[in-house]
Amino acid sequence: MTAELLHVAIAGSGPAGYYTAEALARAPHVRVDILDRLPTPFGLIRGGVAPDHQSIKQVARRYEQTALMDNVRFLGNLAIGRDVSVEELLGLYDAVVIATGAAKDRPLGIPGEDLKGVWGAGAFVGWYNSHPDHVDLDIVTRVASVAVIGNGNVALDVARVLAKTADEMADSDLDEHAAREIHGAPIRDIYIFGRRGPAQVSFTPKELGELDHLARCVPLADAAQFPPQEEDAALPPGQRRVVGLLRGFAGNRPDTKPVRLHFVFHARPARVVGSDRVCALELERTRIEEGRAVGTGERFEVPCGLVVSCIGYRSSPIPGVPYDESRGLFPNQDGLIAERLYAVGWARRGPSGTIGTNKPDGAEIAARILAEVEPTGRPGRAGLDALIAGRGLDCVTFRDWQRIDAAELAAARDRHPRLKFRHIEDMLAALHATGGDPGGSRRS
Ligand code: NAP
Repeated sequence: MTAELLHVAIAGSGPAGYYTAEALARAPHVRVDILDRLPTPFGLIRGGVAPDHQSIKQVARRYEQTALMDNVRFLGNLAIGRDVSVEELLGLYDAVVIATGAAKDRPLGIPGEDLKGVWGAGAFVGWYNSHPDHVDLDIVTRVASVAVIGNGNVALDVARVLAKTADEMADSDLDEHAAREIHGAPIRDIYIFGRRGPAQVSFTPKELGELDHLARCVPLADAAQFPPQEEDAALPPGQRRVVGLLRGFAGNRPDTKPVRLHFVFHARPARVVGSDRVCALELERTRIEEGRAVGTGERFEVPCGLVVSCIGYRSSPIPGVPYDESRGLFPNQDGLIAERLYAVGWARRGPSGTIGTNKPDGAEIAARILAEVEPTGRPGRAGLDALIAGRGLDCVTFRDWQRIDAAELAAARDRHPRLKFRHIEDMLAALHATGGDPGGSRRS
């Protein structure tokens, strides 16, 4: 009978992991274990989506329904490559899916990027989202001027979180310490630098449009940096709206609000200036040739005390899994890394697309597994439970996470939806305090 069950382990409980689990779990003979190194599920929904975009975070409710299915289990506080190896998982499960996303920042590759005050978006966003990896970073926003590099939605998130007032963040779950730092900051100028032009940005209209309605911050652009308006007609509709919004920013007056958000195009970072801490960013003007940014040799400097680079992410390597160093992901053929080993989401295709992009991606990988992998009588979760017990690991079940969640919701102050735990030890301590038992996986 056991041989008829198909045991699948999914490493990573973000959108890609949950959509894969949801599609797999529709087959009654499948048993899915979703593993995460943090005690908290949902990956980027919790640690990446901006704290003031609470409506986007509601998608977690759908993942919760999957997590509570009889043939699905969540096990948190269990790190692949640290607590259990991929080789061990392949021994215990019929298939293993890598859904660990892309958490590492792509380096800028310019002199001075190691200076104090230069951060990648992964670290910066993790810091203001109370991610245990990043909460204790010594990030200083008490500066007059900030440089944000990149023309994607992450750059918009970073600029908006820095620009909004405490009142505008009152319904968010912005990290408490980050909030004190940001809302005490004397920021007057935020620059968003794009290496190409307004027509090549990766912003989406909704996210860009939000910036025109901030309480203390006005978005600005230089009309001289735009191509002739008649060229907009050839753009796809979404991009046309984006360029239209940016053109509107060029008509805004800089003196209407105390903080100015400057969109600067055709400028690629060349050097971070400073001796110990950043004091300016040097950029090179570019022109576009065959869609690519080409340096003109003309350089200029913008004073700034903080640089946040939002130029994309890389997956973190996992021992035992082939890794493409140049692309920062796990090389795969349509999701297949090796026999019975699959990648999904950003670990499969790199850091692009919205949360919803992961749904067809997860469905595709689930269909592949169901078509390609035969049940072989591997022990699945019973085998993992024995391994966890043997190693004395303190794993967290979904019910445990619900207690952590309830404690965060109960601790919320004023209009904030929750007060997040900042450290893993505090989450585990809260479990003990509420009668939960980390290590609960051994009970199930
Ligand atoms: P992205 O959309 O790929 O944007 C990355 C930006 O960095 C591009 O403008 C790129 O310019 C630029 N860049 C790359 N390398 C550079 C370099 N060496 N120097 C200067 N600029 C460089 O990535 P993202 O903003 O990290 O977002 C990741 C994904 O998450 C995207 O699909 C995004 O839409 C999504 N997201 C969505 C939301 C939302 O819907 N609210 C929020 C956040 C993120 P080029 O175009 O010239 O390469």
